[in-house]
Amino acid sequence: SRVETLQINEFVTEVVDLLSQKFKYANINVDVQLHPELPTIQASATEIQQVLMNILQNAVYAMEKTGGKIIIMTGMDDQHLSVSIKDTGPGIPSDNLARIFDPFFTTRPVGKGTGLGLSICYGIINKMGGRIDVESKVDEGTIFTIVLPLDNPAP
Ligand code: ADP
Repeated sequence: SRVETLQINEFVTEVVDLLSQKFKYANINVDVQLHPELPTIQASATEIQQVLMNILQNAVYAMEKTGGKIIIMTGMDDQHLSVSIKDTGPGIPSDNLARIFDPFFTTRPVGKGTGLGLSICYGIINKMGGRIDVESKVDEGTIFTIVLPLDNPAP
């Protein structure tokens, strides 16, 4: 997990590309909105890929029977860069929402989910000084937002 200078927009494009067959097969329409002047950050490429892949695969799993839509947006403010991943899946009931980042918490059938994905994502982003926000409404969908500190924040 070597740290290097990365453009997050490129990783979003790459991971969406890697999952394109899965999206198609699950009838999921994907809309990507990349901030045109997103600054680079210091991060590990494999870790960033892992986090994006995990959150996107969870969205696919949540909608694989119904189809739906995923909107991925990158953005920034003075101090932070963000990647938000919104899905139109079943949402997460509030009892579960408090537990999704816990290791081994899963609602998937035995043998399907390890419940480790989000806890690993949380650890990676936390180690970088960032956070993962989640908003969810049952029957409407879920938004995961990865927030990372900028290397050179505006004064
Ligand atoms: P796993 O995918 O192995 O279950 P994760 O840690 O990645 O483990 O996710 C934990 C749980 O969080 C999932 O089992 C599911 O209940 C919930 N979850 C995560 N992402 C979504 C989503 N986009 N929509 C609905 N539920 C989700």
